[in-house]
Amino acid sequence: MYDYVIIGAGIIGTCVARELSRYSVKAIVLEKENDVANVQTLANSAIIHSGHNPEPDSLKAKLNIWGNQLYDELEQELDIPLLRSGAYVVAHNEQEEAELEKLYQNALANEVPDVALLSFEEAVKTEPNLARSITKVLTLPTTKVTYPWEVAFACMENAMKNGMEFQKNATVTKIEPKDDFYIITVNNRQTIETKAVINAAGVASDDIAAMIDKTVEFKITPRKGEYFVLDNRMKGFVNHVLYPLPSEAGKGVLLTPQVHGEILVGPNSVYVEDKYRTDVSFEGLNYVKANAGALAENVPFHKIIRSFAGIRATSTYDDFYIQESKEHKGIFHFGGLESPGLSAAPAIAKYLLRDVIHIEKLFPEKPDFDPIRKKKPEFHTFTLDEKRKLIEEYPTYGNIICKCEQITEKEIVDAIHAPLGSNTIKGLKKRTRAGAGLCQGGYCEEKVMKLIARETGVSPLTIAYDATDSALFLEETKVEE
Ligand SMILES: Cc1cc2nc3c(=O)[nH]c(=O)nc-3n(C[C@H](O)[C@H](O)[C@H](O)COP(=O)(O)OP(=O)(O)OC[C@H]3O[C@@H](n4cnc5c(N)ncnc54)[C@H](O)[C@@H]3O)c2cc1C
Repeated sequence: MYDYVIIGAGIIGTCVARELSRYSVKAIVLEKENDVANVQTLANSAIIHSGHNPEPDSLKAKLNIWGNQLYDELEQELDIPLLRSGAYVVAHNEQEEAELEKLYQNALANEVPDVALLSFEEAVKTEPNLARSITKVLTLPTTKVTYPWEVAFACMENAMKNGMEFQKNATVTKIEPKDDFYIITVNNRQTIETKAVINAAGVASDDIAAMIDKTVEFKITPRKGEYFVLDNRMKGFVNHVLYPLPSEAGKGVLLTPQVHGEILVGPNSVYVEDKYRTDVSFEGLNYVKANAGALAENVPFHKIIRSFAGIRATSTYDDFYIQESKEHKGIFHFGGLESPGLSAAPAIAKYLLRDVIHIEKLFPEKPDFDPIRKKKPEFHTFTLDEKRKLIEEYPTYGNIICKCEQITEKEIVDAIHAPLGSNTIKGLKKRTRAGAGLCQGGYCEEKVMKLIARETGVSPLTIAYDATDSALFLEETKVEE
């Protein structure tokens, strides 16, 4: 019997898993995908917002500001990447300047540190490509950018080190109340008994809630956002996150420098029927292109290496919904954790345990909880001398598999065998960045596939791109005599 089952291994489920692993509990994370962080946590702008935008006194404002601060702690403890870019929100005329003033007052009311209004002339000194039509800028120095799925991996790895269990390819299909516990059905066959359930299922959180509660207080109204990725040789084209003024539709089309040097252009914001369809559209990407010019001069669209889309878990509830079920004790729902959900995630986890569950009254803290996770060093960041020494000790560092991102055989093999390792092309791309560069895997995917086959002893025919049913090959067509 588990004390807690967490449904979903996005940034919320993994942050909760890590916080929960501080206590003497028996708990497991169930994830329907073949990896951690495969849904919203995979496809977003990666910004740790300052907290300038949410309504003062809302849960969104409180947890965004707290979460932003907690990322500094996570950087120390979990070795996650943070780019302290800061951000500019821009205005183009008197009417927009009046809106910018209101946003500035909102940021002050939320006690966002160090905010100020700058003239175009002041802002352009640190952001030379700023669009010449801009007249005024709100500066938000505490805005940061991270690598969202690495934060989720780091939280999950650290939680597992501290006793948390994890099962992937585990779709929760039923929740059945018993006298003082619940029976969770996974993939319509396996059953798990638990005293409490934490529903962190993102866009599916309303469906999970409906499995157990007659009345669900929020409904997910999915909103798609589409992006372009500019090659990391464009690093420095913008140094800050550049936001237009926010509107009903959200924060608008942004230019966002990424921790590995790429620049994201997007997203748009379109309500959609299907919460799982993440294809991009001609209209959506054209909208993104048309709007990016309001932020910077001559956006280098000839350097696009990829496009992608994510689905926001927008909901009918006006704030983050973080509550115990009104009908069933021990069932906790997260609903409507759209942006700033990534920014707030570490605070959301603490808020759930401290203010909703009151965990300290239920379970003692583990005296031996270890908050530290060390990331494997990235070979390409070493000096030539250091590289030579490393290759002498581990010769497979000398074999570059991904030429664009300079990722070596040793790094990929380590990622296959890590405690939260992967045996898929996409899983290894997320962990090592092999395939994340200019050629998007055109050169290295086949080499990565051969390494997986060699290291796991399976036929290449069984190797998946991502989901277990996404095999790369159908059959052998040419067999050596
Ligand atoms: C386009 C876009 C841009 C964004 N930009 C930002 C930003 O810059 N900054 C910011 O702070 N926030 C941003 N967000 C919001 C942020 O990405 C989300 O708030 C955050 O990722 C939510 O995490 P999650 O864990 O709730 O959801 P997810 O990452 O979606 O995780 C939910 C998990 O539950 C699993 N699951 C679902 N159903 C089941 C089931 N039946 N059984 C088992 N598992 C199940 C899913 O497979 C998934 O892995 C953005 C979102 C989008 C879409």
